[in-house]
Amino acid sequence: MTEARQPGIINVRGEPADGQIMNLHFSNSETIFNIHTDGIPYLSVDLLDRLGVPNLYSTRFLSYEAEHGRGTQGLRVVVMNGEDLEEAAPVVFGNRDRLARQMGASIRQECVTDQMHTNHVYLVRPEDLGPILRQDKPKERRSVDGVITDLPGAVLTAFGGDCPPVYLADPVRRAIGLVHAGWRGTLGRIPAVAIQRMREEFGSAAEDLYAAIGPGICQECYEMGEEVREQFADQWGEPAAERIFRRFPAFAKDGSEIPGGKFHLDLMEANRMTLLAAGVRPERIAVSNVCTKCNADVFYSYRAHRMENEQAAMLVNRWDL
Ligand SMILES: [Zn+2]
Repeated sequence: MTEARQPGIINVRGEPADGQIMNLHFSNSETIFNIHTDGIPYLSVDLLDRLGVPNLYSTRFLSYEAEHGRGTQGLRVVVMNGEDLEEAAPVVFGNRDRLARQMGASIRQECVTDQMHTNHVYLVRPEDLGPILRQDKPKERRSVDGVITDLPGAVLTAFGGDCPPVYLADPVRRAIGLVHAGWRGTLGRIPAVAIQRMREEFGSAAEDLYAAIGPGICQECYEMGEEVREQFADQWGEPAAERIFRRFPAFAKDGSEIPGGKFHLDLMEANRMTLLAAGVRPERIAVSNVCTKCNADVFYSYRAHRMENEQAAMLVNRWDL
């Protein structure tokens, strides 16, 4: 069952019962995501759905009964540091395969990277496809945060729990890209690096691309040090830094207000600016209106609960329309 997202706050909810309630708060009433509650629940980007490109962003939920308004949490898609590999690996592979199958794909076609907060983008080769753990770090995919492919059926997977994924789809060349855009990757304009690689490898034209900035942390939740703003000002210029950083009230440990507050970064707007500057048409860019930290009861959020687990963002190079 697919439910179109309702404007405002709630998608699927019910009376508190045995299970957990999926209570999603959106920052505006635009239809950016569709919610799927059959099997493992996930969000998909409406813009990409309408293009016929299978895509998803998982949640904390293993299952959800929309009718009864409750579900079971505890979905694991990555092995965290300190976890027992032999116990955890089959669980995360099994969950990712179920997610892939819900899009008519398979984990046997999956490519993941180690995601070290770089702006490096990797061209997937046929021999790369297959389930691995991020910890496995095959040497070609070390220090890589973005992947591109034109291999039919390939599944690109990125993980995050506050850092948004950026999905790229080129219906003309039938190629896709997926990047992990934390603040360092965003500073390094990783979506533009991926678009440039797609141009070089597949002949993709930016004006043919569709792009979606997936769920991630919102500006209000994303306090940054002054030195991060300085890096953006140095590399992007002061006007850009002015646009993507804003001061919010902040308080010291003793409860006293810090004069001038603290800077907060708008990762969504920063990545949108990068996509626009790379030549993507504004009407072909979807920007997430759901924050992983504001919705920490639905998503794993690094800022909310450190490293419990993460979400999987997946994009399949298949064109169903
Ligand atoms: Zn937030």
